[in-house]
Amino acid sequence: MRLLEYEGRLLLQEADITVPNGEVARTPREAKSIAERLGGSAVVKAQVPVGGRGKAGGIKVVHNPDEAEGSAAGLIGTKLKGETISKLLTVEAVEIETEFYLSVILDRAKKGPVIIFSPEGGVDIEEVADRNPEKIFKVEPDPLIGLQPFMIREIIYRAHTSQEVFKPLYKVIQKLYNAYRRFGATLMEINPLALTTKGELVALDSKVKIDDDSGAMSEVQELLPESEKTGDKTELERQANQIGLQYVELDGDIGIIGNGAGLVMSTLDVLSEKGGQPANFLDLGGGADSELMSKAFEIVTAKEGLTGVFINIFGGLTRCDEVASGLVEALSTKEIDLPVVVRLTGTNEKAGRDILREHNIPPANTLDEGANKIIQRSQEVR
Ligand code: GDP
Ligand code: MN
Repeated sequence: MRLLEYEGRLLLQEADITVPNGEVARTPREAKSIAERLGGSAVVKAQVPVGGRGKAGGIKVVHNPDEAEGSAAGLIGTKLKGETISKLLTVEAVEIETEFYLSVILDRAKKGPVIIFSPEGGVDIEEVADRNPEKIFKVEPDPLIGLQPFMIREIIYRAHTSQEVFKPLYKVIQKLYNAYRRFGATLMEINPLALTTKGELVALDSKVKIDDDSGAMSEVQELLPESEKTGDKTELERQANQIGLQYVELDGDIGIIGNGAGLVMSTLDVLSEKGGQPANFLDLGGGADSELMSKAFEIVTAKEGLTGVFINIFGGLTRCDEVASGLVEALSTKEIDLPVVVRLTGTNEKAGRDILREHNIPPANTLDEGANKIIQRSQEVR
């Protein structure tokens, strides 16, 4: 998961790294009032998931609240590097003395974290790597032993930074590394890490990527503001996540429900191979009861333009009879005029099939048969 600047900033703050005061605005008026609260001068920053916003015109330094409003009006709703701007982080402007670059990144080849520091911050690190490779300093802490003090000292000494920044820089490196570990990040980048004219080190930008499989994911979600937890998910994805299910939107016209990621993936593959096009898929997970199945069916069929639904269940923890009754329940409460093909096998298979037959939903015997059937019947709908 890639976080937007203002989201990554929340993690930096949580790690006790200084960031400039500021708030997110969704309208020019909000940007204006935030600038007022900040005392007039401010930086208005487009929140889009791409780098190089400054050069592309997405970062505006303004000198009074009216200018903040004007800049915001010029940004909101427009596209920056292909991304529509809907939010602006409006922060106090700081006077920069020097811009540093600092990041902790997961190096897949080395199978561990690398800390990268450069006294030439503010520009893309790739650019520094091209022009001044000798200005990039790295250390590779052993993730089991942790970041050793000598490593932090080494990186700072080699970079020849001024005496006054040694202590604050030492602390920021330590805090950033700890945050990287704590939040299960694969990248935490501060560029620029600015030394202000007041001698303070402030994180003026953030780029954070969190490993989706990290155990810290829930903690990260907790830290993000309520309205943002859903990221860029669709309404149906959100609904599914709320009841603990994984749902993914695709471009075709046949809805898919299965249980277990592997089974769902192979169902998609078999259907596609036979010329069918999945519209979406929902993974029921293990042990779903009839109520969950019923909700799952509602979510999958809420997508517009469906020509059929294919349900493929391998009963283990999940009982086939529960799935069948959930489906029947959903079909009885909501009028869904779509062909539905169900393949059930495993735990309570017979009971499940009996329920289906009672309601005139003939079960398919195999995945192949089911896939052929739904493709055939969905073509009749079209
Ligand atoms: P990016 O271009 O997407 O990396 O966006 P940044 O947040 O890094 O902003 C780009 C540049 O704007 C920075 O490198 C700074 O030079 C400048 N900038 C950002 N915030 C401030 C600020 O508070 N004061 C000043 N003077 N410049 C800033
Ligand atoms: Mn930046």
